[in-house]
Amino acid sequence: MNKKKKSKLIKFLTNPWTVGIGLVIFGAFLNGKFKWINFSKIFEIIKVGLSYIGKFFIYKVGLPVWLLMIISIPFIFFFGIMITYYFKKNPENKFLNYTEDKFDNIIFRWEWKDIYKTGKYDVYDLHKHCPKCKCILNSKSLYSPGRSTRTSELWYCPNCEYKIGDNEIPNEKDIIALISHRAENKC
Ligand SMILES: [Zn+2]
Repeated sequence: MNKKKKSKLIKFLTNPWTVGIGLVIFGAFLNGKFKWINFSKIFEIIKVGLSYIGKFFIYKVGLPVWLLMIISIPFIFFFGIMITYYFKKNPENKFLNYTEDKFDNIIFRWEWKDIYKTGKYDVYDLHKHCPKCKCILNSKSLYSPGRSTRTSELWYCPNCEYKIGDNEIPNEKDIIALISHRAENKC
């Protein structure tokens, strides 16, 4: 590489915009890898900060931006660790541990699913469990004599013979509403 090309490359690499945009792309990459951390916001702040610091050091001190970037790497990792720690400790996400409750004597268990990775969670994989032995309840349709249409559903425990009629259990929509309500109100 000749001198002219080299100086052009250095000029490009030390341009605060290159550094800023580079960090944002790096941030977006990390954001894709670690969905639960909003890296892009952090890098947006770093971008603005670095462009100011970069300008200051280049014109006042003569320290190149690439050196500043290397120096800032441990800080970026430190911030990443701090933020991961914060989100893990964040009481707002404590409801993710709320995955079991009793409604009308029946034990319900479920999981929380992040809808399209938006940070908004929905109840999914909701199951009814036997109040006696905690086994998953199965259901079978009951037909009235002389009718071909299903008249009701019977929930039974395959383990201990526990039985309960569908009409004695709140419907799934109500259960999901109750779970969301309790999760929002910290149970
Ligand atoms: Zn049972």
